[in-house]
Amino acid sequence: MSDRKGTLYVVSAPSGTGKDTVVRELLRLHPETAFSVSATTRAPREGETEGKDYYFVTRERFAEMIERGEFLEYAEYTTASYGTPAAAVDAALAAGRDMILVIEINGANNVKRKRPDAVLVFLVPPSFEELERRLRGRGTETEEQIAARMEKARAEILHMDEYDYIVKNDTVPHAVSDIESIMAAERLKAAKCIESVKGGLGI
Ligand code: ADP
Ligand code: 5GP
Repeated sequence: MSDRKGTLYVVSAPSGTGKDTVVRELLRLHPETAFSVSATTRAPREGETEGKDYYFVTRERFAEMIERGEFLEYAEYTTASYGTPAAAVDAALAAGRDMILVIEINGANNVKRKRPDAVLVFLVPPSFEELERRLRGRGTETEEQIAARMEKARAEILHMDEYDYIVKNDTVPHAVSDIESIMAAERLKAAKCIESVKGGLGI
């Protein structure tokens, strides 16, 4: 157990912006950072692994998890439910590890309400045209789903002022580097480092 508690980071972005890609690269470079695996009622996409990308659960199991108070937050998105299991978040933070949640805007707002010291990062695409290209290029949604996600993206972007930081995902290395800067700045906040600095100075 470390003296320093970890920091809770929340990353949101319209679907297709590249948040999974950017966060995957960030975690590859910083394996000490923990990633919160959400529970969802949606079906797995090709290539997704149970327990790594999501815990894929039935609607009944999801309702049971709500009932038992197992979620830090949960929300409906399109036709499925998504929730952040609280136990893993608390364990990582208590062990001094920073924890990243990749969740949509309603969930992000709920986390900020419950944990005001959480740091909220909004990832934006360089343009709506590029967002549509990325969504289509991923090849995991039907044309109808792409249209619905584009419409949702325009509404979601309007919430970026509720976040602490905005990062443009023009290139993955640039977006990762901006998030690294945010994490570095957060670690230097007086409230986070004052005790260890005092210890070092013997005061
Ligand atoms: P999200 O998690 O936000 O829904 P993904 O990470 O699945 O988005 O990315 C959507 C698509 O865009 C993927 O095909 C991914 O390879 C691509 N992508 C992500 N970031 C970039 C970028 N900076 N430049 C070009 N393509 C990107
Ligand atoms: P997808 O179906 O594309 O994996 O995810 C759809 C949306 O749900 C994305 O914006 C994703 O970040 C969000 N999401 C994933 N897990 C959670 C969660 O635990 N809680 C909330 N509120 N949103 C989540």
